[in-house]
Amino acid sequence: MIQLTILGCHSATPRENKHTTSQLLEVKGHLFLIDCGEGTQIQLRKTKVKFSRIQHIFISHLHGDHFYGLIGLISTFRLLGRTSPLTIYGPIGIKEIITLQLKHAKSWTNYPLLFHELSSKTSEVIFEDKSIRIETLPLDHRIYTNGFLFSTVTTKRKINANKLTPFNLKPFQFQQLQEGESIILDDGKVLENEVYTIDPEGLKRYAYCSDTAYFEPLIPLIKEVDLLYHESTFLEINSELAKKTKHSTALQAATIANKAMVKKLILGHFSNRYPDKKIFIEEASKVYENVILAEDLKTFSI
Ligand SMILES: [Zn+2]
Ligand SMILES: [Zn+2]
Repeated sequence: MIQLTILGCHSATPRENKHTTSQLLEVKGHLFLIDCGEGTQIQLRKTKVKFSRIQHIFISHLHGDHFYGLIGLISTFRLLGRTSPLTIYGPIGIKEIITLQLKHAKSWTNYPLLFHELSSKTSEVIFEDKSIRIETLPLDHRIYTNGFLFSTVTTKRKINANKLTPFNLKPFQFQQLQEGESIILDDGKVLENEVYTIDPEGLKRYAYCSDTAYFEPLIPLIKEVDLLYHESTFLEINSELAKKTKHSTALQAATIANKAMVKKLILGHFSNRYPDKKIFIEEASKVYENVILAEDLKTFSI
């Protein structure tokens, strides 16, 4: 299961009860932080997560509403006595910015602070282990920006324990079943794989896309994902402004969701100029049905 918690979903400046972009994603024991707008650590406190569980932070781009909370969080980790490594993935330049702040404050971290700087204009795998793969989603914004695609991975079939009770299998035989093979017992009986195992848990995919203009090259990369978060800073009434600032309207975000045939769309990164958020849903629903609005501290499960 993938669990997404929106920490902030508003653009530009933080305000009372409106937080800039950050998300917490829990996948198979990992706790990933995506973007880190100002005030993210206060929002994190409200979720009650243990800070030390966050070992990877993904920064989409270097506009303040996506990373001005990072230096504060890095500093808090140090004050909390963190010892485990922290890896930050973000655009080239992020290492220089952060280390300059630490240098002049004479506040080097007492835990390993690692940077994985990004500069590729095509999608690349930036993290992979036996349960999850993370790829970049290059976007079209005023500065170099990536979204991120999180995919669970599994190759092993599930053992149907009930059916195997009568047999006294050895560990290597369980392994063979998990790998999709049928096995032959000492007495010659064949245990067919499809009878004694169950399909692996369905693979889940979450795509995070903020900030970006309407960008069709994104579509094949996010085809049929379970959940898409796509920015919709503006409504169509301000489409000229969206074009100028390289942001999307609700209609454009929904058009991407529709063309990519995603299963569910969350709209976010709202401009503060619209008091009534219901219009975002009305506008998006014209081209894509399964759409919901992000809200600070709202949780979604896949
Ligand atoms: Zn932004
Ligand atoms: Zn931006």
